[in-house]
Amino acid sequence: ATVIVLFTQDLRVHDHPALSAALAGGGPVLPLFVIDDRLVDRAARNRNAYLAEALADLRWSLRSRGADLVLRRGDTVGEVLRLAGEVGADTVHMSAGVSRFAALRARRLREAGLSVREFPGLTVVPPGEVVPQGGDHYKVFTPYWRAWEGSSWRAVERAPSAIPAHGGVAPGELPRSLRERGRGEGAAHRITGGEDAARARLRSWVERGQADYPDRRDDLAGAATSHLSADLRFGCLSPLEVALAGRDHPGHGEFVRQLAWRDFHHQVTAAFPDIGRRDYRDRGRRWRHDPDAVAAWRRGRTGVPVVDAGMRQLLREGFMHNRTRMITAAFLTRTLRVHWREGAAHFEDHLVDGDVADNHGNWQWVAGTGNDTRPNRAFNPLRQARRFDPGGDYVRRYVPELAGLPGARAHTPWREESPPAGYPPPIADPGH
Ligand code: FAD
Repeated sequence: ATVIVLFTQDLRVHDHPALSAALAGGGPVLPLFVIDDRLVDRAARNRNAYLAEALADLRWSLRSRGADLVLRRGDTVGEVLRLAGEVGADTVHMSAGVSRFAALRARRLREAGLSVREFPGLTVVPPGEVVPQGGDHYKVFTPYWRAWEGSSWRAVERAPSAIPAHGGVAPGELPRSLRERGRGEGAAHRITGGEDAARARLRSWVERGQADYPDRRDDLAGAATSHLSADLRFGCLSPLEVALAGRDHPGHGEFVRQLAWRDFHHQVTAAFPDIGRRDYRDRGRRWRHDPDAVAAWRRGRTGVPVVDAGMRQLLREGFMHNRTRMITAAFLTRTLRVHWREGAAHFEDHLVDGDVADNHGNWQWVAGTGNDTRPNRAFNPLRQARRFDPGGDYVRRYVPELAGLPGARAHTPWREESPPAGYPPPIADPGH
């Protein structure tokens, strides 16, 4: 009988366990993606644009293997059921997700009478596969990392060379409007979506980038990290394949540790699906309501150059360096003492890699309501700026008002005898 493979956050043909298992059955396979309008309208415009490109690429890949990507629009569960009825399928394969939405979707499909088989593929190590003694998930990263590193991983699935398609199903169009919908502003310099582009990025990262990673990952101006986060977010790359690529290259261990951070937040989210709404740990934080400060932070007009540069990178690229994500998030939650949810929402509206588990897990970590074992660690934006952007190049790249201030002077415009025109004084303590 025909098996429906429901694609979600796994928009690829390489190392796709749900697809491989469907093919192993020997019968026709029907790859499906449902464009759920409720999700599209809540997502960042930048992510919808990436998604449109990734779907076009996946369709091309499947067509070149004799199948197609069937596209439907509406409620995912309703559309799966309709298609199952149309082709006489009773089995759906999909990658297991960790969000509340993913759990509900699988449950509703089962309740409607379909046999739903969930497979790994969205993380290196599936949530629940390594667990601490006497607990359901790891709450602290270092012990998780040790267990993660020592666990055995499944084998990588090869991309199929041919897919026996179920004929006679209307493929459906990719709505042109997808890339124009959603929240936030569209970034002028966004990464291109799709498995093909993602695999090219991975190859060049392994060949050219990874070796310098341990030394350069915090160098703001160097932008020397992998930039694979959006590809992992949409599953255009398999996290397992990324973790195994370039195993023998220098720099690999440090890089793979970051992938473990991603898995860590996923297993936290699987166990605590409220991560986006409630404090993971209640540490009695008090928050201020300050709409003017939040507006300045969002636009990159706080008067603290490293904060503004990060926020403007986000608007320009739909991406921000990890170090400035920490600096800007700490400035909002610790210096301005504004609730992490306000900051996380703005990130969510712009990041191409924006993801429930990683975004909220990291925001809570920085805000001190999450898994950080030192939630009250001191934080000083200016010291961070001098350390990670010693020449001021990152700041000048994104804040043109500071172009005339050479070297590290770009970090302290308020100390100039005649401060640069059009750039505001700091709205809060910039550090020392
Ligand atoms: P690299 O340094 O090359 O790392 C490789 C991969 O490891 C990344 O692509 C990413 O998948 C993963 N990774 C690295 N650091 C982390 C981390 N701390 N947590 C989880 N995964 C990590 N990452 C997201 O993918 N989505 C988000 O929505 C997101 N929101 C964040 C919000 C805040 C406040 C902070 C501090 C961090 C956030 N991160 C998020 C984590 C991290 O900043 C990005 O993954 C990273 O900057 C992406 O750049 P890269 O691919 O070049 O990373």
